Formats: sequence, C-alpha cells, structure tokens
Amino acid sequence: MILDELRAKARSEPPKGEHVASLVIDDDDAAEAALEGALAYLGADRSRRTLRLVIEGAEVGYLDRSDLYTSVTLRTKSPGDSAHAGLPGPPRYRTIRLRCPIEGCPDSPILTATYDEENPRTCPAHPGTVLELET
Ligand SMILES: [Zn+2]
Repeated sequence: MILDELRAKARSEPPKGEHVASLVIDDDDAAEAALEGALAYLGADRSRRTLRLVIEGAEVGYLDRSDLYTSVTLRTKSPGDSAHAGLPGPPRYRTIRLRCPIEGCPDSPILTATYDEENPRTCPAHPGTVLELET
C-alpha cells in the first residue's frame, strides 16, 4: 500500500521559499508510475526538494525527496528508467507532466500517471482552466 505509506510521511507545513510541483495520484495502481515521474522531476534540478502530494483528490501534505526515495527505490528499477520502454501501444499508466497555462501558477507543474483526453484535468488553483500536457 504505497498510498498509505505516502500519507503517513506527508508533512502539513509547506517548504519555505520553494516553488513546489504537485504530485497527483489517483489510485494505488497508478502510484508507481507517478512516483517514477516525481523522482525524474526532482532529479532534473537539485533545487527541487519537495512536492505537494494529492491523493485521490485530497491534498495530504508535502513530501521531501528522501521520503520518495525510501518509498520507491525498493519497488522500481532505477529512477528515470522507463519501465514501459519498447512496449507496443500506450501503457495504462505512465509518467505524465501537466502544466497550467497561467503564468506563475502555484500548482504547476503537476506530475501524475493518469490522463483522460476525453475529460482533461483542470488546475486545482484555477478552477475551469484545463491543464496542458507537457511532453
Ligand atoms: Zn493554475
């Protein structure tokens, strides 16, 4: 139960002076792909240390890079490796990065593993604003 583990680790106070991305996980099955994406995001820039965690639509708090590593590294291959590389067809869950089109949005970017083109996500900070898929 990765999600319970993450909920238990989340802190309630936001980091000072750091813009945090949002990590959105809709269900336990999607957790691994979402976490892989989160680690890749954090790994790309050393100044990124914390993520805002949203599980099943509820904001649960903030997680540090070290919390993610201890949750993920035992379960997945090396962070950043795509477990789905080379598979034909789109996998059900993959690492997805969304961004809000509004400049300076506090919730952007949003890291997740589920995306429905028929019913695109909207920005939590800007209700009604559809998030754009980053590739
Ligand atoms: Zn926004």
